[in-house]
Amino acid sequence: MKSPTLLKAVQLGVLAMLLLFSKTIFSQDFNPEADRYQKLADSLGEAKQYKAAARSYHAEGEARKMLAYKRQPAVNATYFYSMAQMPDSALASLQKAVKQYGFTNRKWMDSEIGLAPIRKNKAYSDLIRYMTDKQNAQLDPDRAAVITSDITLFWKAYDQYKKDPSNAQKLFLTEYFEKGTLNLQEYYRIKTPNIGGIQGFIHNLEIMPEYYASIRAKTEQVSTLEDSIRVIFRNLKDWYKPATFPNVTFVIGGWSSGGTVTNYGSIMGVDMQAAGAETPTHELNLWQKKNMLPFKELKNVVAHELVHVQQNNMAGDTTLLCHAIKEGMADFIGELISGRTANARLHVWAVGNEKKVWEEFKKEMYLDRYSNWIANSSQETADRPSDLGYWVGYQICKAYFDQATDKKKAVSDMLNIKDYRAFLTHSKIDEKLTEGRK
Ligand SMILES: [Zn+2]
Repeated sequence: MKSPTLLKAVQLGVLAMLLLFSKTIFSQDFNPEADRYQKLADSLGEAKQYKAAARSYHAEGEARKMLAYKRQPAVNATYFYSMAQMPDSALASLQKAVKQYGFTNRKWMDSEIGLAPIRKNKAYSDLIRYMTDKQNAQLDPDRAAVITSDITLFWKAYDQYKKDPSNAQKLFLTEYFEKGTLNLQEYYRIKTPNIGGIQGFIHNLEIMPEYYASIRAKTEQVSTLEDSIRVIFRNLKDWYKPATFPNVTFVIGGWSSGGTVTNYGSIMGVDMQAAGAETPTHELNLWQKKNMLPFKELKNVVAHELVHVQQNNMAGDTTLLCHAIKEGMADFIGELISGRTANARLHVWAVGNEKKVWEEFKKEMYLDRYSNWIANSSQETADRPSDLGYWVGYQICKAYFDQATDKKKAVSDMLNIKDYRAFLTHSKIDEKLTEGRK
């Protein structure tokens, strides 16, 4: 017979284990049922039990609630159904992945050996045509959608949360993220881990009540930006004919990211860029204070992200130089098409520090890490901003542009860099920034 004390201890132990488990094994969408299917499917796949694996991935996808989390299981099911010689089931999964969950990886579809049985199918060529039509439509700057419905959804959930904050995680998961657009869900999937997932999201709302109250009206006016965004789109088309224009979605992200580019187009975290003169900053940390943008500059961030969308043809490279050029280019071309860079604060700080920053950058630019230069908010101090890699990259692109006689060609060259070292040499940035020193 167990004594009550012992029983209690055992219960506590079990509880502690469950808590531990819930932190480690549950995925970010808090779906243990789907996680179990996924685990099972993974092991069946490894054991080459193709049909059973496909079924388990299918079950995983059905159990997941957010569209962005249904995509990978649908793709996995496609592969294993195809391997199991079940082309119709494979195609049904692939159609879902593409049409409902936004899967766009044509390269994988066309080259994966395991998909050979389905590529002969007419439904496969129909799907390819569907994808090509969608892609071609993106060449027109007037056809991209500007989506703001998630903002409305957020404030609805926020009002409920203010009345009863007791179940905030569940509330925002079910009433905001799960009901939101696929794009919001993708943002949640890839960007909220930056702030500690849903817990971090709620935490930021909790500690910034006055900030959120002050930006509300501005965020609810985002749809009024559509006209100026459209002009920015057309400006880019003038500079660079092959430009594409996927949808732009505005979301409230709890300070996880100001903007990002995904398969679903650009996604903007509006709550980081909706400030006005009246916005209180006492609830924000140093980095947040410095990176909070006025609402009137939100369109410049949209321009920055739009430039990233065009960078698919650039060479892949892991050096700091490559990352800095990509970010700086987004600022530089973003300025060309929208009138202002998305990181104006760096340019204000850099006056008088140009040579020093350039010399420091040169020492690290061929290293395979950018952690001292990009996304290094933890290094932000009152005397030196983080993210100076953006500033350096901007200077390199500007120098390249300035020395070119054909400016449109210069823009095209940037967006198609194959050799970063050669681009750097052509820009003559070193001569420009070290001038007067020699
Ligand atoms: Zn960027």
